[in-house]
Amino acid sequence: MTSYKELGLVNTKDLFKKAISGGYAIPAYNFNNMEQMQAIIQACVETKSPVILQVSSGARKYANQNILRNMARGAVEYANELGYNIPIALHLDHGDSFEICKDCIESGFSSVMIDGSHLSFEENIALTKKVCDFAHAQKDYITVEGELGVLAGVEDDVSAEHSHYTEPSEVIEFVGKTKVDSLAISIGTSHGRTKFKPEQCTRDANGILIPPPLRFDILEEIEKQIPGFPIVLHGSSSVPVEYVQIIEKFGGKLSDSVGIPEEQLRKAAKSAVCKINIDSDGRLAMTAMIRKVLAEKPDEFDPRKYFAPARDELKKLYAHKNQNVLGSAGQA
Ligand SMILES: [Zn+2]
Repeated sequence: MTSYKELGLVNTKDLFKKAISGGYAIPAYNFNNMEQMQAIIQACVETKSPVILQVSSGARKYANQNILRNMARGAVEYANELGYNIPIALHLDHGDSFEICKDCIESGFSSVMIDGSHLSFEENIALTKKVCDFAHAQKDYITVEGELGVLAGVEDDVSAEHSHYTEPSEVIEFVGKTKVDSLAISIGTSHGRTKFKPEQCTRDANGILIPPPLRFDILEEIEKQIPGFPIVLHGSSSVPVEYVQIIEKFGGKLSDSVGIPEEQLRKAAKSAVCKINIDSDGRLAMTAMIRKVLAEKPDEFDPRKYFAPARDELKKLYAHKNQNVLGSAGQA
């Protein structure tokens, strides 16, 4: 059993309290390799932002959970070396069983998500409560995120055929019975780079897809039910057109890409939304740069020569998110 405190990590309790009163959201950036971790830490140190390093079940399979939590320890030391001690949490994204959550908690994660959103309301409560009981009983309190409502889209092992919005009338009972620390809700965000079908969108003069707006009315209703309770938005990439265009210019094909406009996320971050998950935008930034370098320099075969520009682009993107979208810059 390793406690996250031994790794220099923090849980999300204080991070969320400060984020709600300060009107900003903590970035939750997924990582599964060294370059992503370096870019996240560089961006968050430079902008003085707290950060949640997020590990999906797909990342656990790809990179190995023990390697990732040691990278999180490395991330803490790297931030110190860069000259600023930002708070860093290590969070399991979309844990789908008690066992996975327990495993992560015992290996040094400071926070876990138990996603019972595909279960019935009663089963979701029972599973989430079981994880909370275990996580909160640890010597160093581990924070737990639950989910009500189902997001559309596909990301790693998470996918849903039919999405539905969170039912505001259910949140008091869910939060009260489970004692969960934060709640992921469904108000129109979606996993992946094709967040909406073209027929759900309108198009601007250049033919770019414009998505339907987030359901801020549902968010407001939820906030009325559980005032000041930390809310989480998944699937909150904006899918920048510039990256899609670079990728397609250099041989990729990403038709019908559409994300959540950054102004809407900025608005959400000022509310009780205190954690915003961004993964697809990072994938797009790295892929755009790697495709560009390989297309422009066909004789290049040193991975460092295309990973370095990809890492630089990712850092730039995340610094922009912290400063202009989440508002977390300067809050560490
Ligand atoms: Zn998610």
